[in-house]
Amino acid sequence: MAINTQKYQQIGSELNGKATLIAVSKTKPIADIEALYVLGQRDFGENYVQELVDKQAQLPNDIKWHFIGHLQSNKVKYIAPFVYLIHGVDSYKLLVEINKQAAKNNRIVNCLLQVHIASEETKFGFDEAELLQLPNLFELTNVAVVGLMGMASFTADMTQVKAEFESLKSIQQKLVLTYPQMTTISMGMSGDYLIALAAGSTMVRIGSLLFGEREYKKA
Ligand SMILES: *Cc1c(COP(=O)(O)O)cnc(C)c1O
Repeated sequence: MAINTQKYQQIGSELNGKATLIAVSKTKPIADIEALYVLGQRDFGENYVQELVDKQAQLPNDIKWHFIGHLQSNKVKYIAPFVYLIHGVDSYKLLVEINKQAAKNNRIVNCLLQVHIASEETKFGFDEAELLQLPNLFELTNVAVVGLMGMASFTADMTQVKAEFESLKSIQQKLVLTYPQMTTISMGMSGDYLIALAAGSTMVRIGSLLFGEREYKKA
């Protein structure tokens, strides 16, 4: 449980201001987050609501918390008071619930719509046709849909990964004509962030390169 400072600096220079680094700290201890915070990192990503709520309470207030996991409607209320950006919004119903909870907190919550770009069946998200048919997003006055998020297939075929990231970028370029604030493209993880960057990513979500491999409890 120590952070990789050298990697952190290397990634910083590779991104070179073109994309924001989200340090994905899921399953990692508070001390690791503090170690990156001291180096100037302010954007952190978490996947689990309870873990995010616990960590937020113990860490400085100027951290921007990104929720990057699969969010259930009944849990939105726990993160609505403080979350900075919700990456994985995969249904209009969820967006309506976020709008409602944001309003209760007198906030406007930033959201990204998750797009299904991978070939695998299991990944959540909208497809292009669904995105183009969404109800008018401007009617939800307490959410700001600022862009799209996607995950590439889990494959060693980097040609395919590149094509999937490029498809996300092209969908964003269509949507931005209707919604000018949709400028964020959240794509790229430890294994593929350089490909994502070349394809136009504006936000990369990196965990294991910074914090080391995650250990999961056995189910
Ligand atoms: C865990 C996770 C990441 C970070 O993955 P690494 O491979 O450790 O960089 C990025 N995005 C999402 C949605 C994740 O769940």
